[in-house]
Amino acid sequence: MTRIPFNKPYLHGRELVYIAQAVASGKISGDGMFTRKCHQFFEQRWGFPKTLMTTSCTDALEMCALLLDIREGDEVIVPSFTFVSTANAFVLRGARLVFADSEPDNPNLDPRGLEALITPRTRAIVVVHYAGVACDMDPILTLAASRGIVVVEDAAQAIDSYYKSRPLGSLGTLATFSFHETKNVIAGEGGLLVINNPQLTERAEIIREKGTNRSAFFRGEVDKYGWVDIGSSFLPSDIVSAYLYAQLEVLDAIQLRRKALWQRYWDNLAPALPAKGVKLPVVPAWASNNGHMFYLVCESLAQRSVLIEALKKEGIDAVFHYQSLHRSRYYAARHDGRELPNCDRFADCLVRLPFFYELQDADVDRICGTVLAAL
Ligand SMILES: *Cc1c(COP(=O)(O)O)cnc(C)c1O
Repeated sequence: MTRIPFNKPYLHGRELVYIAQAVASGKISGDGMFTRKCHQFFEQRWGFPKTLMTTSCTDALEMCALLLDIREGDEVIVPSFTFVSTANAFVLRGARLVFADSEPDNPNLDPRGLEALITPRTRAIVVVHYAGVACDMDPILTLAASRGIVVVEDAAQAIDSYYKSRPLGSLGTLATFSFHETKNVIAGEGGLLVINNPQLTERAEIIREKGTNRSAFFRGEVDKYGWVDIGSSFLPSDIVSAYLYAQLEVLDAIQLRRKALWQRYWDNLAPALPAKGVKLPVVPAWASNNGHMFYLVCESLAQRSVLIEALKKEGIDAVFHYQSLHRSRYYAARHDGRELPNCDRFADCLVRLPFFYELQDADVDRICGTVLAAL
């Protein structure tokens, strides 16, 4: 019985060649040849006006909070069902979090509850496209625009995914992506900031370069560079970008395979699971599926525990996901006390099945067989 891990990083072909090229070029610090190639790729492929590679999606989110001048007393609306970084980035600047609940049938932020969360102090709404599936952006963008609130997309899982044919990452004022080893295209640790409002571009470059205007200096726009604003070191080594660029070059092949794996899970499980009280992932009509993740929603925490245990016995690593941030040890006492029942249900009942590029069809069949036998 071979073990099936939940995730496995992989080489597609040219990663090590490009890393060697980066070293041979004599420059492996930030903004080298491969970082430029990555920026070009993102800007050409999805029409993003400006992109900046970062050391992680977490750092890209922290850059968003800095760029938006989030400060003490500001309120930021975030989903409670998300990774800590979505929230932490704004808490670091002194913001108070106002948590939004998930939709009833999928973990994304429910726009229906949103207006009631807005106060005169609301500065930003951060949406998370869970599993690469788009939030219902039109009502969110319309509401935010009418109240002068900025929308940030945490698109960590959402590369090459779309909302009504518009690429995710192009809809908010700012957006962030992750290339952590669990995402569709990887660099170990890495991220991207997308700047859709050109007025924020210059300052984004400065914040990313330790508060200096070094980027403008290297373009010859200023004759010396110095300390002009706050900032930190948010740019990755060119080695990270070299690894990533090798994956971007074969993005279509990666996506094709991941979508095929997703479909195989679906075909195996969709006929049998509803009768057992287990729900399949929901992809609303407005959203595309980028093959980021395959998850199930059990009818109870107990049923999920049985399932995870049964898979573990067969050497298969299935894992649950986020625990509600409004109940977290750090934030529970600061939360305003509202119940967020949909979020709590996904925290208790959602389980993710192994999903990575090198997963074999036979592995998927074995996993599904074990799932069906366990329930
Ligand atoms: C992975 C992930 C992050 C964090 O990405 P890093 O690159 O690891 O910092 C943030 N938000 C969401 C929704 C994620 O899935």
